[in-house]
Amino acid sequence: MSITHLQTYFAGQWQDGSGALYSTEYPATGETVAQLHACKVDDVDQAVCFAEAARHKSDWAALMPHQRAAILHKMAALIRERSEELASLQRLDNGKPVKECRALVASAAGTFQYFAAVCETFESPVTPQRGDFLTMSLYQPLGVVGAITPWNSPIASEAQKIAPALAAGCAVVIKPAEITPRMAIELARIGEQAGLPPGILSVLPGKGSVIGDALVRHPLIKRIAFTGGTNVGLGIAELAAKKLMSVSLELGGKSPTIVCSDADLDHAVAGVVYGIFSSSGESCVAGSRAFVHASVYEEFKRRLVEQTTRLCVADPSLETTHIGPLISKSHRESVERYVALALEEGGQLLCGGKRTGNELGYYYEPTIFEGLPNTSRTCREEIFGPVLCLLPWEDEADLVSQANDNEYGLACGIWSKDYKTALRLGQAITAGTVWVNTYKLFSISTPFTGYKMSGLGREKGAASIMEYMMQKSFYWGTNAQPLPWSQA
Ligand code: NAD
Repeated sequence: MSITHLQTYFAGQWQDGSGALYSTEYPATGETVAQLHACKVDDVDQAVCFAEAARHKSDWAALMPHQRAAILHKMAALIRERSEELASLQRLDNGKPVKECRALVASAAGTFQYFAAVCETFESPVTPQRGDFLTMSLYQPLGVVGAITPWNSPIASEAQKIAPALAAGCAVVIKPAEITPRMAIELARIGEQAGLPPGILSVLPGKGSVIGDALVRHPLIKRIAFTGGTNVGLGIAELAAKKLMSVSLELGGKSPTIVCSDADLDHAVAGVVYGIFSSSGESCVAGSRAFVHASVYEEFKRRLVEQTTRLCVADPSLETTHIGPLISKSHRESVERYVALALEEGGQLLCGGKRTGNELGYYYEPTIFEGLPNTSRTCREEIFGPVLCLLPWEDEADLVSQANDNEYGLACGIWSKDYKTALRLGQAITAGTVWVNTYKLFSISTPFTGYKMSGLGREKGAASIMEYMMQKSFYWGTNAQPLPWSQA
């Protein structure tokens, strides 16, 4: 496979970062696919200062909404034009099956299109009179904002941050995961082709602890939209607090899926399999704890194992592949440590539990355990891999308490034919997203958030444009007379 030399785009030009040359590899074969220079802290300063100047010089924020929207529409169109190529590049970066990569690219195009519409139709209210004045809200862009993204769904995650920020009139500096820089770089290219003024969208590849950290600390950065692990997110929140800077943190999860006694088992089995094993389980919302009612447990387990062992773990370029490789050698080792831990904790392996596929790629079989208590480390910690724990339940109050007895609160799946049961359970589980009789469906117009250690703030939804704007309340006096002290 040929090795591509990637340049990045910051301070209004295509250039190499000023740090060391590093390589990215294709997880399906371990081959080097790209080389690029990491950025250094000085590059962060240069990119952010240039972006701040570019905002003013280009009048980006002062453009009419329909003019900014036109550029976002053009970005959506360019993403669609290049969709097959972008899907392949995404696959080379993180090894996801090509079908999933296509869906991520389509989602990114849809996100730019959606926020173009939000930009053009955004209105601010004039509130009813409560005295001799009228009040209205004026919204202005925050300035230069930072976006920090993980490796698992780069183009979708990056679009979700860039599009609302650009729609709001901000300039964006993005720090992609070190090992998956391509989608952010391609989005910068697409932005340039669509007519974004130089400096309004910049990309700084490099180490999170260096470049990400410098971005968060930079005095001209007015907001950080972060997706990644909880520990890193907590560190960002601490730094942000010192600047009183707003953040959105989309963090980890250990989401429960609940199968009730009346569930349609065909749907529930398919949903649980898809919910945990799609994206090789490298998904923040992976349904990694399946609570199954005791009355259907054995039948569900039989069908679950049968369906799981039929999944095709293979080359992610094939249309027939369900599960591609894990992202890296070290991540597969981390999953293997968790599988060893599950066995030590007394878990019974129902299927999987070992490497598969060619010798060179980081493939791992979809793995299911039963017999582990919800209090075990395997059931508590985010594995971020294809490992499912199956737990029986009987009493609803106990189920709710177990499902909630976890530091995360990102998502939840409920399989029941009774809408009252589903509503009751969905209200009782602390989770930002509740899927009833479905799983892992997303809409750009529906806000996404996590509770507890799964996050802070929201992404997606029309209102998220306001996260990138400063709201000012204007009072317009309508008094016929001067204010009371005029006679003093
Ligand atoms: P990570 O936290 O290690 O890295 C995420 C990003 O943060 C990367 O760009 C990284 O370089 C950067 N970073 C690392 N240290 C930093 C620091 N000190 N300061 C600033 N930036 C820093 O996460 P990851 O391993 O890339 O991704 C996996 C994690 O992401 C999982 O925990 C997963 O649940 C989470 N995730 C959450 C969501 C969500 O929407 N809730 C979506 C996808 C992934």
